Order: sequence, then structure tokens, then C-alpha cells
Amino acid sequence: MNTVGEPDAPPSYEGACLCGATHFEVAGSLSAVVLCHCTQCRRGNGGAFNVSVVVNTAQVIFRSLATLKEYESSPGKVRAFCGVCGSPIYSRRSETPNTMRLRGGLIVDLPAPLGLRHIHRDSRWPWIDTIESAPMTPEG
Ligand SMILES: [Zn+2]
Ligand SMILES: [Zn+2]
Repeated sequence: MNTVGEPDAPPSYEGACLCGATHFEVAGSLSAVVLCHCTQCRRGNGGAFNVSVVVNTAQVIFRSLATLKEYESSPGKVRAFCGVCGSPIYSRRSETPNTMRLRGGLIVDLPAPLGLRHIHRDSRWPWIDTIESAPMTPEG
């Protein structure tokens, strides 16, 4: 918490995998969030699409990397996951070494992004646009 007279601290966000073995902090604003519908992202995450937060690698401070594993899913593209619980952590490309895509579900209280876009939209499941009309329960 800031006190009177101190400049506003830059935002920072905590992130962790399911088991907590991989734990990180992201310093600074989060500008772009990408929703990717490609087949590789669906398989890599086990979900209908992948939520990626595009950050500069210098923004990310890993507090624990001991269990992190990397898998080269296509030439020059690496997907990282926790070797204990299997949570996807990030992806990165060798041609853009200063950028990584953190998996959005890991970040506590992910704020509304300044930029949000869908990619590989043509690869989406054809019924995905109807999910908002499915029955909803507040919990459980
Ligand atoms: Zn884990
Ligand atoms: Zn993808």
C-alpha cells in the first residue's frame, strides 16, 4: 500500500501452477491477452482455447523453476509446463526471445486487458460461440 507522498508503485501480479511448485511474479502492466483457438493450444492446455498474456520476459521473475519442463511443440516454439502437476506455464519462440506468453489462468486476479484478441479463429470448435447460452449455476 502506498502512503502519502510516495509515487504509485507499478502494478505486479502473482502467478502459480496448480501445485504451487512453479511460482512467479509479473511486474508492470499487462497489455495484450490472446485467446488462441488452434489445435496445438487446445491439446497443450486441455481446454477449448488458450488464454495467453503477452509479456516482456524482463517483466517475469520466477521464484521457483525446479520443476519446470519445456517441450518444443514445433521448430523454434517451446511450451513450458510444471513437471509435477502438468499446468501449462508459458510458450516462447526463439525468433522473439524478449517475449513470452504466460498462461492467463495462472495469474491471480488477472485484470481486464488493454488489448484482447482471438487468433486462429477459423480453427475453433464450431459450437464455441454458443457457450454463453448454456445453463449456468453460480457454484459447483
Ligand atoms: Zn505444479
Ligand atoms: Zn495456438
